[in-house]
Amino acid sequence: MDADVIIVGAGPAGLCLAKSLSGRKLKILLIEQQDREALEAPIFDGREIALTQRSATLLKGLGLWDLMDGKDIAPLKDAKVIDGPNIFSMTIGHELGKGTELGWLVSNHLIRRAAWQGMQHAANANKDITLLTGAKVSDVRTSASEATVTLASGQALRSKLVVAADSRFSSTRRMMGIAAHMHDFGKNMLVCAMIFEKPHDFAAWEWFGYGQTLALLPMNPHPETGAHRASVVITLPSHAIEALMQMEPDAFNAAVAQRFNHRLGAMQLCSTRHNYPLVAVYPQRLVAQRFATVGDAAVGMHPVTAHGFNFGLLSVDALTREIATALHTRGDIGSTSLLQRYEGRQKRATLPLFWMTRLIVEIYTRESMAAKLARQVLLRVSDKVTPFKRSIAQSLSGT
Ligand SMILES: Cc1cc2nc3c(=O)[nH]c(=O)nc-3n(C[C@H](O)[C@H](O)[C@H](O)COP(=O)(O)OP(=O)(O)OC[C@H]3O[C@@H](n4cnc5c(N)ncnc54)[C@H](O)[C@@H]3O)c2cc1C
Repeated sequence: MDADVIIVGAGPAGLCLAKSLSGRKLKILLIEQQDREALEAPIFDGREIALTQRSATLLKGLGLWDLMDGKDIAPLKDAKVIDGPNIFSMTIGHELGKGTELGWLVSNHLIRRAAWQGMQHAANANKDITLLTGAKVSDVRTSASEATVTLASGQALRSKLVVAADSRFSSTRRMMGIAAHMHDFGKNMLVCAMIFEKPHDFAAWEWFGYGQTLALLPMNPHPETGAHRASVVITLPSHAIEALMQMEPDAFNAAVAQRFNHRLGAMQLCSTRHNYPLVAVYPQRLVAQRFATVGDAAVGMHPVTAHGFNFGLLSVDALTREIATALHTRGDIGSTSLLQRYEGRQKRATLPLFWMTRLIVEIYTRESMAAKLARQVLLRVSDKVTPFKRSIAQSLSGT
């Protein structure tokens, strides 16, 4: 065997899994199509990731939290849901959860950098991780006794278990014949950081407008000017996003302030702009013979409930626990029973919120007169139901 475990994809999920499995006397092979330089020094990609308290605990356990600079981690105190042009918002306060904040916000490239550094420290200390970069997986086959991964170069590598961490559009999942439910919302998201006049009080906004969806994810003040700063997410049909992407900064600033009804005062772009298609994915199976999926390959969430990477960390934790148990009992780390237990656990953790998120988006993007009325009534009624709001707070904090 070339390895005990082959992990395909060194995104945040794949890197965290390699780190998590390291030090257990396993031979780990991590394969990534990007070059090493892109992994070593990831560049800003626009995403501000809302991490639950649970995820913060998992990242601390992996030793990655301390690799991030405290000034880059912003507290998420409250969450507000706004509907249409109304001033009213449903507020999910941190007092409904179990901490002084619901969660934390960190830029995705900083999480990726910490995950890379953590994996490197583990590889150097334990000498059990081999990294292949610039290597694209082109085929995966498994049998009762082993898995074979073939690279585009033609090199074949064998292991006891293959783990796909190769994004929501996972090609290895497809190679294993696993179908996936995919929902293309027909929209794109523009994400960027902006500074503005009015304070955000560390509250996230999810604003289901008419003809657009906006989100505001609080960041710490701008390091040089001290201005209020947040990540802005604008969801629109792709042609409208493309027009915003191409606008000169001044015109863009004015257009975004207008979209926010000037509730934040004047706004100013302070980062590059990034454009993502909006596609949610749930595979029919999370495992197959000697094969498991983690991260976005196991569930590609709509970002509105901010759970994609949080679920990714849960999948890393759940699979590590199963593998640790098998090692403890000298069992097979690729056995069908182990993989089924992992699948059951992950489905229970992710499937209800996946469909709940789809339902929320479905309701809050309908725009007939009746739907607009129902949206407003539903929000105002929900605001009065404390147990409901508490359950959202618990979901946001992962407690
Ligand atoms: C706008 C936006 C906002 C988001 N906000 C949040 C949030 O607030 N909270 C949250 O928890 N999540 C959020 N997410 C989701 C989060 O970004 C993802 O869940 C996370 O980045 C997925 O990590 P991953 O490692 O599973 O996949 P990826 O980051 O997609 O990494 C996959 C890796 O696999 C490699 N790869 C692919 N195919 C191959 C192959 N054939 N051979 C070798 N390598 C391969 C790729 O090069 C890549 O490096 C957001 C996402 C978006 C787009």
